[in-house]
Amino acid sequence: MNPAPALTMDLQSLVDLLPDLTPNDRALIERAYFKAEVAHAGQFRKSGEPYFTHCVAVAHILAEMKLDAEAIAAALMHDIVEDTSITIEELRVEFGTTIASIVDGVTKLKNLPLKPEGDKKSRSADRELEYIRKMALAMGDDVRVVLVKLADRLHNMRTLGYMSPDKQAVIAKETLDIFAPLANRLGIWQLKWELEDLSFRYLDAEAYRIIAASIDERRADREAYLNRIIESLRKELAQYNVHNSIITGRPKHIYSIHKKMERKGLPFDQIYDVRAVRVIVDTKPECYIALGVVHNLWRPIPNEFDDYIAAPKDNFYQSLHTAVLDTQGKTIEIQIRTKEMHEHAEYGIAAHWRYKEGTSRNNDDAFERRIAFLRRLMEFGRDAEDAASFVDTMKTEVFQDRVYAFTPKGDIVDMPKGATPVDFAYFIHTDIGHRCRGAKVHGKLVNLNYVLKTGDQVEIVVSKRGGPSLDWLNPNLGFVTTARAREKIRYWFRKQNREKNILAGREVLEREMKRLGVLDTTPFETVAKWFNYDKLDDFLANVGAGDINGGQIANKILEIERREQEERERQQLKARPASVPLDISNGINIMGTSGLLVNMGRCCNPMPGDKIVGFVTRGRGVTVHRQDCVNIAHESDRLIDVTWGRQSQEQRYSVPIEIIAYDREGLMRDISTVIADERVNMSTVIVNTRQNIATFQLTIELSSIPQLTRILTRLENIASVTEARRRMTS
Ligand code: MN
Repeated sequence: MNPAPALTMDLQSLVDLLPDLTPNDRALIERAYFKAEVAHAGQFRKSGEPYFTHCVAVAHILAEMKLDAEAIAAALMHDIVEDTSITIEELRVEFGTTIASIVDGVTKLKNLPLKPEGDKKSRSADRELEYIRKMALAMGDDVRVVLVKLADRLHNMRTLGYMSPDKQAVIAKETLDIFAPLANRLGIWQLKWELEDLSFRYLDAEAYRIIAASIDERRADREAYLNRIIESLRKELAQYNVHNSIITGRPKHIYSIHKKMERKGLPFDQIYDVRAVRVIVDTKPECYIALGVVHNLWRPIPNEFDDYIAAPKDNFYQSLHTAVLDTQGKTIEIQIRTKEMHEHAEYGIAAHWRYKEGTSRNNDDAFERRIAFLRRLMEFGRDAEDAASFVDTMKTEVFQDRVYAFTPKGDIVDMPKGATPVDFAYFIHTDIGHRCRGAKVHGKLVNLNYVLKTGDQVEIVVSKRGGPSLDWLNPNLGFVTTARAREKIRYWFRKQNREKNILAGREVLEREMKRLGVLDTTPFETVAKWFNYDKLDDFLANVGAGDINGGQIANKILEIERREQEERERQQLKARPASVPLDISNGINIMGTSGLLVNMGRCCNPMPGDKIVGFVTRGRGVTVHRQDCVNIAHESDRLIDVTWGRQSQEQRYSVPIEIIAYDREGLMRDISTVIADERVNMSTVIVNTRQNIATFQLTIELSSIPQLTRILTRLENIASVTEARRRMTS
């Protein structure tokens, strides 16, 4: 258990562990190595060694597991952001998003408290598991964050001897409570058993010493016995033409022996008496041949046979399990599997990141990894001891629909996905919700409709007094997404007096109508009627109480307009003469006009999306060609601009809008960001700037009406924008 000597931990020994590296991947690891070495220069560990040795050791652990180059590079740099002046942005520029986000994930984990504060005694095993699950989620989609973190912890455990005894106890307990179960949950036995044994060594030094000594004492006997078993098995397998088998005694780890002794109340001798052998063969049929051989050699114990090859466990674990009695009547446990199955069993989720030369990963692969990860985490309750938490897991259902955020104190707040800071505030306390005025995530101010991500640390800024905003009830604005918060806000407004509600309601109505440009053309009473209210004040009071929100008002106004518009169009259609020329334009606009006689060029057969140009024929209207069509290559004066019009029948709403703002640098960029973000098309942009006031006139194409109010609100929230509203055209 001594720390591995630092001198062997150089770059060469690291890449030697990964013989199949491509030149690119090798260069990546080298760059990360030197980046970290320079960054940590002058820093030292408790052991007196340069700090950088820790980074290399962590990378070593992952390289031994044959992880990919990205994981190794991230491991080398895992402490760089926390402990040196290098920023995540710098890493992103130099090493790309993937590696930067792994390092970022590992860094963020440091800011998570490892234990919920307070109730240390009352925590049950269930809560422990629940906590692990949430922490695992806080790490995000990329499980390599967890793998780096586990390797980091493993190396810290291997070098724990340099810490003070009370620190040793705390860290060892944490490792046993959190990290070993996490490794177990991810199926990484390699890490799990070593973390457990190291923790146990510090937590119960005496028990550890006794078991270790006993194992040592009996080692010779045991090995001789196992060698005999292995030898006879090998010979027998060869008879059946299974030549490539690897047969090993399965080591029992100190902590697992200890636990079994405790659980079964048995002395060491009887626990250690169980012999365990693993047979690894090349192919699946050979697994069954080996099974037959085993059952032929020794007497199988009934009910001890499990075929996880035909019926894999949910975590994809595959193996044949059986137990037999040897000639002296002692139990031998035997596992039989292929190399591939073995790799999966040993490395669990980490097997998904095993280095394979020349395989480029695509999105599907990433998706698969995520699924595998989630399935792993869902693997609660396979054991009886997990039953309670399994039920719990099922209750919180598919927990990818949950988001787990943290208070500054480190308490976890468990909310449905899509929750905002306002939701978060209401989850903490109703009063915090009512007085919520702003929020910080990881110390940075965010909008109140920011969508929280798992792992976010959220701080709510509250006012001394005052209540919620009516805007929070408008679903288009996205301030509140949970029913729980919405109910509390409604209740607050219902308790306000009618006078106040009418005033507040009038404000909301006025603002919505102004935005839509109908304030001067439509009386308030008309809108009230649309909502089936005879008295305006009753309507306003209900708006002010939050029962009708601004979004509903906007939708109603636009909906009615649309109906009127449709009615007008129907009337026009009726009035149209019967002899309208047939529109065969296939959705082609010519110089901005549609409905002209158009032919498609047979020579180049333009398809929607192609760059096209129109050719004015003599007497046959316009023919449309691809811009690169040879037949029009030498034409110029008879070419006209044509564009593809609307292709599908999908409904789109063209809405002209106007934005008024104090002009500043980057304003246009901010506006187009919002538009692009909402995935709407923008046509015709006109900008006028007069004495520092910029007026933008644009037309946007919406797929749904409610989108409009949201976009207008978002535009209005842009710095220096004073107004964003629909522009009425005559
Ligand atoms: Mn570290």
